[in-house]
Amino acid sequence: MSPETAATAAYIVAALLTVMSLAGLSKHETARAGVAYGIAGMAVALVATVALAARSLTAGGIALLAAAMVVGGGVGLWRARVVEMIGMPELIALLHSFVGLAAVLVGWNGYLEVEGGQEGVGGSAAQTTVPPELLGIHSAEVGIGVFIGAVTFTGSIVAYGKLSGRMKSRPLTLPGKNALNLAALVAFVALTAGFTIAPSLGLMIGITAVALALGWHLVASIGGGDMPVVVSMLNSYSGWAAAASGFLLDNTLLIVTGALVGSSGAYLSYVMCQAMNRSFLSVIAGGFGVESGTSASGTEDGEHREVNADEVAEMLAEASSVVIVPGYGMAVAQAQYPVADLTRRLTDRGIEVRFGIHPVAGRLPGHMNVLLAEAKVPYDVVLEMDEINDDLAATSVVLVIGANDTVNPAAMDDPSSPIAGMPVLRVWEAENVVVFKRSMAVGYAGVQNPLFFKENTSMIFGDAKARVEDILKAL
Ligand code: NDP
Repeated sequence: MSPETAATAAYIVAALLTVMSLAGLSKHETARAGVAYGIAGMAVALVATVALAARSLTAGGIALLAAAMVVGGGVGLWRARVVEMIGMPELIALLHSFVGLAAVLVGWNGYLEVEGGQEGVGGSAAQTTVPPELLGIHSAEVGIGVFIGAVTFTGSIVAYGKLSGRMKSRPLTLPGKNALNLAALVAFVALTAGFTIAPSLGLMIGITAVALALGWHLVASIGGGDMPVVVSMLNSYSGWAAAASGFLLDNTLLIVTGALVGSSGAYLSYVMCQAMNRSFLSVIAGGFGVESGTSASGTEDGEHREVNADEVAEMLAEASSVVIVPGYGMAVAQAQYPVADLTRRLTDRGIEVRFGIHPVAGRLPGHMNVLLAEAKVPYDVVLEMDEINDDLAATSVVLVIGANDTVNPAAMDDPSSPIAGMPVLRVWEAENVVVFKRSMAVGYAGVQNPLFFKENTSMIFGDAKARVEDILKAL
C-alpha cells in the first residue's frame, strides 16, 4: 500500500470517528464515549498527517514540526488540567481563535506559494504548482479561507475578552452598525473578485484587514446575555474555517471534519436561538444587540429590602414549597454542596423542594446541572425552566442563588432592554423571593434587575456558600 493510500484510509477512519464523536456528544449518557471517539479520531489524523508530511521535509523542517507539536500539546495539556469549570467558555473561545488564525496562515501560505511565487517553508516541495486554468479557483479559495479565518479569529478574541471579564459585556453600538457590517461584506466580495482576476499583495492585505475588523465588530456589537449563542456560532465558523483550509491544503479530512463541526455548530446555534427567542439570521449578522439608546443601565431604581440568615431560615421553616434557582454566582461560590444539604434538610421536614434551571444559567450549557449532579442532588427535583415556570406562582419561597439575568423581569417588560425577549424564570410570581448575591451589582448582560426592588423580594448579601451555611445553622 502506498503511503498516500494508507493516509487516505487513516483519514476515512478519523472522519468516521468524528461522526461517532458528534453522535456520542448529543446525549449525556454517551458523552464520555463521544469524547473518547473524538480523541481517537484526532490521534489517527495527526499520526497520518505527520507521517505523510515528514517524507518531504528536511531534518530542519521535521525539527520545527516536532517543536511545534511539543509546545502546542504541552500548552493544551496544561490549560486543560488547570482550567476551572467557570473558565471553560473563555478557553473554548480562545481555542476557536487558534483555528481562525491557522486558517488565515494557511491562506497566506497558499497565496505566497502560488500567486506570490515563493518557495515553501521547511524544505517542502518548492513552489506548489497549480494549472493556469485552476489559478482563479485557487485565488478564490485563498480569499474566502482568509476571510472566514480572520472573522473567526478576531470574533473569538472579543468573545474571550467578554467571557473572561477583560472586556465589557455590554454591546458596542456604533452608529449605523448594520450598514458598517454590510459595507464590510461588500468590500470583501469586491476585493476577492479583484484578487481572483488579478491577485496582488495589496488585495490580500485588504481582504485580511476587512475580515479582521468585521469579526471584531460582529461580536463586540452583541450584548452579554446573547453570548451563549455567539460562542456556539463561533464554534460553527471555526469548522468552516478548517474546511476552507482543507480545500487549500487538498486535505479531505479537514474538509469533512470542518464541515461536520461547521454544520453541527450552526444547528446548535439555531436550536439555541429558538430557546432564547432570537432570530438566527440576526445572530449571523451580529445584529441582535441593540441599535442605540438601550435601557441597559447599572443604576438602581428603587428601594431594596435586606434580610439575614435567621430571617430566611424562619421563612423556609414556614414554607410548604421551595424552588431554588441557581445561577453563575452559585458556581463562583461553589455553593452547590451546602445547597444540596439545605435541600435534604427541607425535604426531611416535609417541604417540597425543586430546582428551576434556565437554559443559559452560568457560563456554559448545562453548567448548573453538572454542579448539582456533583453535589448529588437527585435528578427528579431538577426541572427545566419550561417545566417549572407555571408552578412558580403557587410557590411559598424562591431562593435565587447567584442568578441575575436569567430571572430579570426586564426581559419581558422592557422592549428596549438588551435582553428583551429572552425567556426568563418568572420567580417574582412566588409568594416570597430571596436573592443571594454579594452586592447590588448587575448581572453578565450589564442590565439592572427590577426583581431586586419588588415588594416580595428580599436580598441576602455575601458569598452564597457562606450564607447558605448560615441558614443551615439557623435551621
Ligand atoms: P449572571 O451572570 O447574570 O449573574 C450572576 C450573579 O451572581 C451576579 O448578580 C453576582 O452578583 C452573583 N455572584 C457572583 N459571585 C457570587 C458569590 N460568590 N456569591 C453570591 N453571588 C455571587 O447569572 P445567570 O446565571 O443568571 O445568567 C448567566 C448569564 O451569562 C446570562 O446573561 C447568559 O446569557 C450569560 N452566558 C451564559 C453562557 C452559557 O452557556 N450558559 C455562556 C456565556 C454567557 P454580585 O457580584 O453582586 O455578587
